[in-house]
Amino acid sequence: MFVFVSIIFVFVAYTVSIKFVYYRFSQLWPQLRNKISNPSYTFGDAHFCPTQKRSGAFLPNSETANETRALLVTAHPDDECMFFAPSILKLVESQASVYLLCLSTGNYNNQGLQRKRELLDSCAVLGIPSDHVTVIEDKELPDDPAVQWSTALVSSLILKHTQNYGISLVLTFDGRGVSGHANHIAIYKTLSHLASAGRLPEGCQIFSLHSISILRKYLSVLELPVSWLLPSDFCCLIGPKEYKRAKKAMLCHRSQLLWFRRLYILFSRYMFINTFQAIVVETKNVKIY
Ligand SMILES: [Zn+2]
Repeated sequence: MFVFVSIIFVFVAYTVSIKFVYYRFSQLWPQLRNKISNPSYTFGDAHFCPTQKRSGAFLPNSETANETRALLVTAHPDDECMFFAPSILKLVESQASVYLLCLSTGNYNNQGLQRKRELLDSCAVLGIPSDHVTVIEDKELPDDPAVQWSTALVSSLILKHTQNYGISLVLTFDGRGVSGHANHIAIYKTLSHLASAGRLPEGCQIFSLHSISILRKYLSVLELPVSWLLPSDFCCLIGPKEYKRAKKAMLCHRSQLLWFRRLYILFSRYMFINTFQAIVVETKNVKIY
C-alpha cells in the first residue's frame, strides 16, 4: 500500500513540475525573446538559469524581436524538424525572420532530390517560406559521416548567408552534433572558428544546441524539468499544439519514416525543448596604425 501511495505521489509531483516548467517558460519567454534580439547582451556572467531572477537588462515589452533575423545552419534535410523544431516554431511565432541553410541534400542513399522536396514541405509546416530555404548541392559536402567537410567552403557559405540576409542570430549544433554525426560537428567547428576569428557581422550571436545523454534524449516531456534546471544561454519550449506541428513536419520526410523515426517522434525530448549554449563571438579585428 505504502509503495502504491508513493508511486502515485511521485507521479503527481512530477506532473506538477512539468506544468510548472511550462508556466515559468510562458512568463520568461518575452525576456528570452528580447535576449536574442539584443546584440549588446554579453554572455558569460549571466547564464540562463530558470531558478534565478532574470537580469534587468531585458526589456519585457520591447518590439525588438521583430527585427530578429535568424539563420539555422543544418547538415541534412530533416535536421530542422528532428532537432530544432521548438526553436523554429517559437521564433516564427515571435515574428522573427527565420532562414535555413542546409548544407547537403541528404544524398547518402541517392534520394537527394526527394529529400530536398520533403525539406521544403517540412519548412512550410514549420513556418519557414521556401525563399528562405537554401539547400547546397556540392560534391565537397556529401551526406557522409566518413567525409570531413571543408571548413573553408562551409565558412564561405555561412558568411555569404549572414551578410546577404543581415543575420543577427545563428543556431546550429554543438561540438557533439546531437547525434554525433561528423557533418553536424563540422558546422559547429566552422562557426566556432568564424566566431573566434571575428569574421562574423557585428552583433551576430551564435547558439549551439546542447547534445544530451541518450537516456535524457528519449524521455520525451518527462525530461523537461531536468533541462529547465540545468543552466543554458537560450531555451525554446513548445506545448502540445506546437508539438503537433513539429510532428507534421517530421512526417513530411516520407523517405526517412522508418520505424525508429516514428519512435523518435514519440519519445525524443528534442521534439519539445531546445536548450542552447552561446558561442562567444569576438569583435572584428581592427588594425590600429
Ligand atoms: Zn543530420
